[in-house]
Amino acid sequence: MSGEMYDVAIIGGGPAGSTAATLLARAGRRVVVLEREKFPRFHIGESLLPFSTKAFDRLGVREKLDRTFMPKHGGEIIAACGTTSAKFYFKDGFESRRDRAYQVTRSEFDKMLLDHSRENGAEVREETEVTKIDFAKDRVRLEVSPASSSKTPTLQSPTLLEARYLLDCSGRQTTLGNFFKLKKTYDHLQKFSIFAHYENVDRPDGIDGTLIRMVRGLDRWFWMIPLTPTRMSVGVVMDTSTFRAMKLSPEDALEKCVEEQPEMVARMQKAKRVSPVYSAGDYSYRNAKLFGDRWLLAGDAAGFIDPVFSSGVFLAIMSAEKAADSLDEILSDERRKPRLFREYSHCVNRVMDLYLRFVNSWYSGKGFIEVFLNPTEMLQLAAAVNAVLAGNEGSRFAIKWRMWIFYFFVRAQRFIAFSPRLSLVPKKPEASTSMGPLESVS
Ligand SMILES: Cc1cc2nc3c(=O)[nH]c(=O)nc-3n(C[C@H](O)[C@H](O)[C@H](O)COP(=O)(O)OP(=O)(O)OC[C@H]3O[C@@H](n4cnc5c(N)ncnc54)[C@H](O)[C@@H]3O)c2cc1C
Repeated sequence: MSGEMYDVAIIGGGPAGSTAATLLARAGRRVVVLEREKFPRFHIGESLLPFSTKAFDRLGVREKLDRTFMPKHGGEIIAACGTTSAKFYFKDGFESRRDRAYQVTRSEFDKMLLDHSRENGAEVREETEVTKIDFAKDRVRLEVSPASSSKTPTLQSPTLLEARYLLDCSGRQTTLGNFFKLKKTYDHLQKFSIFAHYENVDRPDGIDGTLIRMVRGLDRWFWMIPLTPTRMSVGVVMDTSTFRAMKLSPEDALEKCVEEQPEMVARMQKAKRVSPVYSAGDYSYRNAKLFGDRWLLAGDAAGFIDPVFSSGVFLAIMSAEKAADSLDEILSDERRKPRLFREYSHCVNRVMDLYLRFVNSWYSGKGFIEVFLNPTEMLQLAAAVNAVLAGNEGSRFAIKWRMWIFYFFVRAQRFIAFSPRLSLVPKKPEASTSMGPLESVS
């Protein structure tokens, strides 16, 4: 039995799915987004990069974003030993053209983008889960069912639909990655994150109050992401084995980690938790293939590499934009498919490699952080690192050679202290600066 026929069916209505849906619908394609949740729903991934701005302009959501979300002018990284810190501003990035990104409450951001794809002509079915996939020569058949979490299902029973192409944007669920057994986890990046939202975390006034702040310890790091003038996302990341050894619930572990870190204590004296404590673990992986004859993977469904450099949403939007453009061309002329799919995969893998290199370096000893926290104006190296962290794909030679030199210093730092050595071990908090248990919502 055959169902309704679409040009493209998209699994998942996160930033990747909604970006691709808007662009395909605008190109006149018949597109359906299948999303198992009802938006707004909580999601992690709140600190964005400036290089997504061009895509937001193309989507036509820039003004809505400007009206709704906090700007992000850069970041600050603080050594947990309290001896040094470094701020960077996107305006100072190599040949920077964008001085800001956004810090977003994802439930609102994702809903805004998904509603926008609807307004642009995409069909969006929420609380609808893709439960079966079947590939035929010229089409994909999907069985969709009411999501098990749905309280008010619009679908009463499983339904069939068909599409010429399937774009998997199902996030860390990696629907097709699991289906084809493509998922390769990065064993050395098996981390555990615990996070929540707080009111009244201390922050500076003005532009510095918009920065993402990270506190880097020896075996863990913290993030503080300002979401509104008073609300802050706070999280900690450590090895999964470290979390297990604590033998604590995520809630207690988050509280203990904060209490042991004077840089966090100093900022969280008056903090009150206003959300449940969430956690996520073992999340770094990539799929061995990003396309097949009738399908493409975009966003986290293609791969996810650690949250440390806030690259997830940037990669999701960048890959979805490229996937939508490729599919639109292919729908007009299938002969272009082999070349366009190969180019797509090459491009997405290259940008993921760029971030993988940063991430590997961040977690391999102290070289990266010691060099990063001692930025040099020499040869505009700091500006080049800043640009790549802002989402510049670094394909220009002017950035490439600067990155080679930066990584040379990071490696050499193991043997010669070009930058001051850091212990990254917090000093014991003095009695007067320690805080009581974090206040929380009941
Ligand atoms: C601890 C942590 C911190 C992070 N911090 C940041 C950060 O600061 N900045 C940043 O840019 N990124 C961050 N990320 C990454 C970011 O969360 C993701 O990269 C981003 O959400 C990817 O978007 P996406 O659209 O690919 O997937 P998602 O946003 O996950 O969307 C996928 C959607 O697919 C739906 N879905 C899944 N399976 C099915 C199915 N079978 N049928 C129907 N629907 C389905 C899901 O309900 C979901 O809504 C972080 C990640 C982690 C784990």
